[in-house]
Formats: sequence, structure tokens, C-alpha cells
Amino acid sequence: MEKTTCCVVGGGPAGMVLALLLARAGIAVTVLEKHADFLRDFRGDTVHPSTLALLDELGLAEPFARLPQRRVRTVQLPVGAGRPAVTVADLSVLPGPYNYVAMVPQWDLLDLLAEHARREPTFELRMNTEATSFLVESGRVTGVRYRTSDGRTGELRALLTVACDGRGSLARSRPELGLRRFTCPMDAWWFRLPRRDGDPSGLVGGAGEGFLTAMIDRGDYWQCAALIPKGADAELRAGGLDRFRAAYAAGVPWIADRTHVLRSWDDVKLLDVHLDRLRRWHRPGLLCIGDAAHAMSPVFGIGINLAVQDAVATARLLAGPLRRGTVRLRDVRGVQRRRRPTTVVTQALQRTAHARFIAPVLRGRPPLGSAERARRVARLVGGSPWLRRLPAYFVAYGARRERPPAAAVRNREPGTQTAAGGQHA
Ligand SMILES: Cc1cc2nc3c(=O)[nH]c(=O)nc-3n(C[C@H](O)[C@H](O)[C@H](O)COP(=O)(O)OP(=O)(O)OC[C@H]3O[C@@H](n4cnc5c(N)ncnc54)[C@H](O)[C@@H]3O)c2cc1C
Repeated sequence: MEKTTCCVVGGGPAGMVLALLLARAGIAVTVLEKHADFLRDFRGDTVHPSTLALLDELGLAEPFARLPQRRVRTVQLPVGAGRPAVTVADLSVLPGPYNYVAMVPQWDLLDLLAEHARREPTFELRMNTEATSFLVESGRVTGVRYRTSDGRTGELRALLTVACDGRGSLARSRPELGLRRFTCPMDAWWFRLPRRDGDPSGLVGGAGEGFLTAMIDRGDYWQCAALIPKGADAELRAGGLDRFRAAYAAGVPWIADRTHVLRSWDDVKLLDVHLDRLRRWHRPGLLCIGDAAHAMSPVFGIGINLAVQDAVATARLLAGPLRRGTVRLRDVRGVQRRRRPTTVVTQALQRTAHARFIAPVLRGRPPLGSAERARRVARLVGGSPWLRRLPAYFVAYGARRERPPAAAVRNREPGTQTAAGGQHA
């Protein structure tokens, strides 16, 4: 019989951070990841100050600083074609060193976490291994059944199973966890366009007639998103690619000379945007965290950081019970109690942004009711140091900042590098 102490289903940001922290605390942890590698395009790439500070505490600042990255200091919401975007958070008002968002390909971050987790003798990562169902004995989840990419099947028993398998999580099929969905006004199209010398850098937002754009600078190409009205994918595709290329070029004129690289609709992928959360994140033997517990909207790009903070809180709260060999219902309930308020607040802000900014623009109307009102809000936020600091802090650290378990922290010698590239005093 295959056994581990903690079975982590899914090697995304939540799963890999949780596994690294638990392994450093000396707990046997096995991660099952259904893909062969972490190389997946069109995923979240934003590493916010809360995660940068965590990497620093884990002694991973130096290798992280070596990853290819761009730094972004402002979060802007585009408010319609031809209008300047509204800055909703300016991280440069925060004290350093982590007063920016690092744009790092998610696969580089996950490779880094996996490389360092592999140095711990209690860590195991099984790629190409998909959890297919839960093992349940006397009402308690006791592990998972799995299938490998070469067709082998097996069972892995665990004291605790943590579902970190994203918004399509296996756990979501369990009716007792209760999924609450919120309506979203948009879906997203993702595609790549070449990047050239002289282009802007970092994260670039914009708006066309009836759609919004976000472009992530990946060095030699742009990872582009177009937010379109929810459910409009088929109708817009039927309108023809030429029409979309022209509309996009009208919204982002400096990219017009290369929209022709989109040769067919196969180059444009649809992301069905969801905003939801489980009412209960747990049942005996099982805990859900990250997107498995709460799928986030792409607004503010904070899904990864929320998932990472869930993992940090889980490791801190459950390392002791896992080490003692008894994880009670009240232990897993404690994780939900700690992390749910942050999730609720963040999703409420995302829903406000959907209703006030995104939905009006997608309907071809000015956001916040009128252009003048949008300008007044921008002036109010921009004019007060306090009002500027509050959203910046929220975007940087979320509603609640989590500390890793002491056993996972590594000494930071004076003179060694921070994740921001500076030196520890
Ligand atoms: C297109 C797109 C753009 C985004 N942009 C941003 C952004 O800019 N910033 C941001 O912060 N967030 C962004 N997000 C959201 C962000 O990617 C997620 O919030 C974050 O990755 C959640 O992390 P997670 O570990 O909970 O889940 P995921 O990242 O979804 O990881 C789940 C992992 O589980 C694996 N898995 C799934 N099912 C199984 C199974 N049965 N068995 C084994 N393995 C399984 C998957 O392969 C995956 O590796 C974006 C999401 C998408 C889809």
C-alpha cells in the first residue's frame, strides 16, 4: 500500500508552496501533478510583494532574482477607448524593497519551488499523475486513486489530502462542499503577438470599442488578453478574424503592424472567466485551497498570490497536527476560518470592478456612469496619500498577510541578496 502523510493534488502555485513548506517542516508530502511539466501558456504571471517577501523568508531570494522578469508598479483599469486608464494602485508609494509586482512566467516560479523542494528528503513530486477520485472510509477522505499518463493506476493513502487542483478541482464534485457562483460580465481571449524594440514594457492595459485589453511583456512577445462580453465568443468569432484584428489594432494602435500574425481563430484561446467559492473548504481528511476553494477573476491579477497565501497559512496551521499524526476536523476548519474573510473581501472588490468598470465598457458605455465621474474618482484616489496607500497595500499584501512555519524559514545572512536584487542589512 502506498502511503504518505500529506497528499497534495495539483502542482500549481498553491500545491508547490504548500509542499515545499511542509517538506521543510519534515513532513512526508507527495504532490500529484497531471501534466508532464509546468510549461503552460496563458497563466497568471504576477508575483506580488507578499510572495516576494515569502521567497525572501524561505531563502529563495537569490535564485528568484535571477529569473527573467519585468517589474510593474501601477495597477490601472482601462476606462474606454481613447481615455487615459485610471490608476487604482500605485505600489511605489509603499516602502521598499518590495514595492512592485514582478512579472515572471509561472513555470519558472514553479520550477524554482520544485527544485528547492526536491532537496528535502520527505518531498516527492509525481508528474504525469492525475488524481481520479478520493478514497473514502467511514466518511473520511483517506487519499486518492490516481492514473499515470502511461495508463498505470494506483491508490495513495494519506493522513490529509489537500486539493490544490484549481478551479476544475475533483473536490468540487462533492455536493456537501457547496459551490457558490457569482456572475461575471466577461470572458477573455488570449493570444500572442511579437514584441519589438521601442514597444512599451511591463503590463499594458487599454480599451477598444466594446472590449478591454491587457498585454503582458514576455521579452520577445506579448501575451495579450482581450476581455469580451460573457458568452459572446461564438458570435464574435462568426464576425470574422479580420474584424477582430482591425478592432484590436484600433484600440492598441502601436501593435497594428503585427496583428496579421493571428492567422486563424486557433491562435486565439478562450478563457471562460469564473468567480466562485466553496461554502465549505473541508471535510474530514480533505482540505481545498487556492483556486480549488475559490476561483478568482483576472481583475487585479491576484489569484496566484491568494493561492500562495492560502498555502502558507495551511502549512503554518497544519504542520503541527500532521507531525503529531492527527488532523482533526477543527484543524482544517481553522484554515478556512483564517483564509475565507480575505477571499470574500477580494472577491467583493473584484465584483465591484466588474460592475463599475468592466461591464459598462463592454456595453460601450463610460465606466462609473459618466466620464466626468470616472475622472473625479481618479482625482480623489490620486490626490490623497492615504487613499493611494490603501489600495497599493491591498494589492501588494492582500487583506491578510501570512507567515510561514518557523521550520521552513532559512537564515538570511547580512549581505545576501533580497528578491528585489538588493542586499540584506
Ligand atoms: C489565463 C489566465 C490568466 C491568469 N492571470 C493571472 C495573473 O496575471 N495573476 C494572477 O495572480 N492570477 C492569474 N490567474 C489566476 C491564477 O493562475 C490562479 O489563481 C492560480 O494559478 C491558482 O493557483 P492554484 O495552485 O490554486 O491552481 P492552479 O494554478 O490552477 O493549479 C492547479 C494544478 O493542478 C493540476 N491538476 C488539476 N487537476 C488535477 C488532478 N486531478 N490531478 C493532478 N493534478 C491536477 C493542474 O495541472 C495544475 O498544475 C490567471 C488564470 C488564467 C487561467
